[in-house]
Amino acid sequence: MTEVYDLHCHSTASDGALSPAELVQRAHQHGVTALALTDHDTMAGIAEAKATAIATGIRLIAGIELSASWQDKCFHIVGLGVDPAYAPLAQATNNLQKIRLERAEKIAGKLEKKRIPGALKAVKKAAGDGMITRTHFADFLLSQNHVSSQQEAFDRYLAKGKPAYVATVWAELELAVNWITGAGGIAVLAHPLRYKLTANWMKRLLTAFKDAGGQGIEVVTGRINTDEIKLAADYAARFQLAGSMGSDFHSQVNPWVELGRLASLPGNIKPVWELLG
Ligand code: AMP
Ligand code: MN
Ligand code: MN
Ligand code: MN
Repeated sequence: MTEVYDLHCHSTASDGALSPAELVQRAHQHGVTALALTDHDTMAGIAEAKATAIATGIRLIAGIELSASWQDKCFHIVGLGVDPAYAPLAQATNNLQKIRLERAEKIAGKLEKKRIPGALKAVKKAAGDGMITRTHFADFLLSQNHVSSQQEAFDRYLAKGKPAYVATVWAELELAVNWITGAGGIAVLAHPLRYKLTANWMKRLLTAFKDAGGQGIEVVTGRINTDEIKLAADYAARFQLAGSMGSDFHSQVNPWVELGRLASLPGNIKPVWELLG
């Protein structure tokens, strides 16, 4: 049987709209046979996803999407095939939950200064036991009619340089990669074109990432055109990184991104799943 892979998506454990069980069911309905759940900075959804995957008959790969700092910029590193019980990674996620709560308090404070009260209570309620993300703030701003789309919430309030932006010190890239590889996982640079780096900076990033033990790069993602796939594939080939594919699905409300709806990996790229045990 040929597997249909989707190696990047989010549940209510971070900023996804579906519970881990609903997410696995939806992936199955959309023809995915091997799904990696990769919530922001947490593995809290993995157990539920795994149970549903067993019941549904699809393969669940335990994953995470770690926020990491390199050269004072934030990068996302996807870990695939991680052991959720590996203590240093589990401990890191606990710290990240605290860091995210403290950041949320500061973001809410900044929104209050802009005469937008009530954000902290709302995002805490929406996130529940999960990670509080800027997506929760975007949804709050949308629900209160301060903006007319999630994108506008980022563009006007939450993105870097905007009034409610709070700079965060994430783990250094090397440490984040070490947590993943220590947990038996494969470290994959997420959505490489979203960082808007020049070719020279991309070269420096990928060199540092490989030196740290990174082995993969996302070549096919949810919102990417043929030219962009080619560009990402060129980076994979040049730096001898395995290619990954994942939708980065967050919500069924967004018609542009769907679980398993992905272009195929270019034939000259080593698929990252060949590295998964
Ligand atoms: P956080 O990790 O809490 O800073 O939130 C990052 C998440 O916010 C990303 O994973 C995206 O889901 C979302 N996000 C970041 N930037 C944007 C943007 N410009 N437009 C829409 N969503 C964004
Ligand atoms: Mn997200
Ligand atoms: Mn990301
Ligand atoms: Mn993501």
